[in-house]
Amino acid sequence: MKGQSAVASLDIQRFVASEAGAWSNAYFVSGVSEAILFDAPMLRSDAGRLADMIDRSGKRLKAVFISHAHPDHFLGSDLIADRFPAARFVSTANVVADIQTDGPWMFSMLQGRLGAEGPRRLVTPKIVDGDTLEIDAAALDIAEFGEGEAKHIATIRIPGQKALLCADLVYHGTHLYLQERHIESWCSRLDELEAFSKDRVVTFYPGHGDPAGPELIAQTRAYLQAFAAAIREGDAKFVEQRMLSLYLNHHARQFLTAFSIPAYFPAAARP
Ligand SMILES: [Zn+2]
Repeated sequence: MKGQSAVASLDIQRFVASEAGAWSNAYFVSGVSEAILFDAPMLRSDAGRLADMIDRSGKRLKAVFISHAHPDHFLGSDLIADRFPAARFVSTANVVADIQTDGPWMFSMLQGRLGAEGPRRLVTPKIVDGDTLEIDAAALDIAEFGEGEAKHIATIRIPGQKALLCADLVYHGTHLYLQERHIESWCSRLDELEAFSKDRVVTFYPGHGDPAGPELIAQTRAYLQAFAAAIREGDAKFVEQRMLSLYLNHHARQFLTAFSIPAYFPAAARP
């Protein structure tokens, strides 16, 4: 079975952005000669380190697949595009539309805020052709999920490894980003993910934190429930103390303090 042995030989390498770059993951998936990149870091220095890693691999980067329209997963695409001009930037139609809507304001806001670490131009992916991507002879399946952490999240399943590059559908050891205030729909997406992955996904490759098993679904649900309970019970200070004590060692504390809490307590964000 030629196809199967090609699938089995795929290598999944995780690239972790700096803490200032929201500790986001990008994944470099490679076969014998070809490779794809799943997501691009936000900061220029992180994107540069990732480009060096891709260079060292000696593989031909044929595509960069963007999972969702949040800056920590696509904003540094310009550097990757400049270093690998043959790579096509793609995503699903809905994610492309989300980036067309939100990309320009995210770009101008963050370009000013990040200075030298910011992007020089906005790269908008094109709509991917069909629902698979190929690396050498191996086919990877694209599956999109609706509103939750983001407006849409596009994932890639690697059948031969029972692996799912699931981006921010689940987090691992990281505070959740709840600025879009979709706790309930995110919980529904987790139910869908549970059904989708049953018997065919063993390892989940999240957008933040180490790859792990299906326990990431339960852990993400537990965080959402704890946050929902905290905002019912107290004010912004209370929520911060409660979540920081429950999740003492979680990364990306800025997701909680600078995004999630101000989204639910707008007045607390103002001095
Ligand atoms: Zn993220």
